[in-house]
Amino acid sequence: MNVSSAITRTRTATLLIALCLGAGISCRQETEPGTAAARATHPNILLISVDTLRPDHLGCYGYKRQTSPGIDRLAAEGALFENAISSTSWTLPAHAALFTGLADSVHGCVDTDRRLDESRHTLAERLKESGYVTVGFFSGPYLHPVFGLAQGFDEYIDCTSYPELTGQEGTDADVVDNMKVHERSHRDITNPKVYEQVGTWLKANKQHPFFMFIHMWDVHFDFIPPPPYDRKFDPDYRGSITGEDFLFNTAVNASMPRRDLEHLIALYDGEIAWTDAHISRILDDLDSLELRESTIVVLTSDHGTEFFEHRLKAHRHSLYDEVIRIPLIVRYPGRIEPGQRHGAQVRIIDVLPTITDLAGLGEPPDVMGQSLIPLFSGGTLRRDNLAISELFCDSKMLLPDGRWARKDPRFRIQYRLRSFRRLDRKVINDLNRERAEFFDLRADPDEQKPLENPSALASRDAEQGRERLKAFMKALPTQGAQSDIPPEVLEKLKSLGYVGGDDDDEPEEPAP
Ligand SMILES: [Zn+2]
Repeated sequence: MNVSSAITRTRTATLLIALCLGAGISCRQETEPGTAAARATHPNILLISVDTLRPDHLGCYGYKRQTSPGIDRLAAEGALFENAISSTSWTLPAHAALFTGLADSVHGCVDTDRRLDESRHTLAERLKESGYVTVGFFSGPYLHPVFGLAQGFDEYIDCTSYPELTGQEGTDADVVDNMKVHERSHRDITNPKVYEQVGTWLKANKQHPFFMFIHMWDVHFDFIPPPPYDRKFDPDYRGSITGEDFLFNTAVNASMPRRDLEHLIALYDGEIAWTDAHISRILDDLDSLELRESTIVVLTSDHGTEFFEHRLKAHRHSLYDEVIRIPLIVRYPGRIEPGQRHGAQVRIIDVLPTITDLAGLGEPPDVMGQSLIPLFSGGTLRRDNLAISELFCDSKMLLPDGRWARKDPRFRIQYRLRSFRRLDRKVINDLNRERAEFFDLRADPDEQKPLENPSALASRDAEQGRERLKAFMKALPTQGAQSDIPPEVLEKLKSLGYVGGDDDDEPEEPAP
């Protein structure tokens, strides 16, 4: 963020306060950065995002397998949120939502031809401005600085095994978002490097209050955990399916034999156990460096993954619960009573205001999420917790010659999905087909039986959600160029209908 955007931010914050007051919503003013009050409460903050981690595959969320002793311990020592929802079903917009506290339509970083706008005020920027040293470690392609997610980090460290392919600042997005890089990323094993880099950094910098973000990649496909995790959960399998080339292997399909699919899921679980072991080591290092009591630890994910629950595999195709439900655990010794479990629906956009609030910086007015602090002391959320999830991006179809189809309009699918979820109900609107699916989540938690005649409540949810998005898009417009595509090319693509237009061009939500 530069000076002019800081001025703009003051204006938009004022607008947001007016917006909140007009809507009867209370919002607290942010503590002035750098004040004595802010400094006095500076706990360290460790935010871990485990890519592609489904909560229902963790012991602390009731899973049958022992995939996660380390995460289970973290949960037992802090607060676990049973119903946390992401903003989308893939990496880039979900992390932009995590870093900004804004829904995808509002932060605007919804596809790979976008980068997070400079005018967005990220969690790292907010903490840096209040005196924190900030460091990020990333291990997958969509966390690359080219997409704007490094905003506010003093250091932003590449833990992939292919930095020579992607470069750093100044790289073109196409250098990162291409088949060669994605294939390398699917095969990449990054946990040891992340662990080593994090440990080195902590030992050298522990004396100053820090905000550390760690992105852990290995749970993401391909599902190729190193021994002994490769055989940990399915040692007797004798079939031919492996976790390699998960996305493009045509033998991995909705009609595949159940036994082979079970093996793939066991390999996914092996990846979770492999990653959990490294999370345990990081938490042990906090203990041995005597940082445990002074560090807030937040563990979450960006999205889940699909194993054909709705005939789809991987993620970034739908907004069903298997891809938008995420784990969320917060530990802060002395402030959060251990062993808490909260059933209220919460969202990835609530992470930012919760962290700033726990750090003594208050709850910023210019975010859509809200602080979860009231829940820690037995209270209730202050504001509405409708979860809005969106998928507004090109598909990633692969052509026979190995090129991505996304740049060829003959093969292109532009997803335009938006869901509105509450604990007991959900509507998924497909804006392309002008179709809506409504689910009663109490009677049908697996979303297998869309209702013919949804209740009026679903229509109200969709209307409320859309109004909220519109209000924030108006109050927080993007300030700079969002795209790497030259403006004249973008206009041409828009006129041909190949990329999304302005909000005004957007079709109305179909009635649920
Ligand atoms: Zn991801």
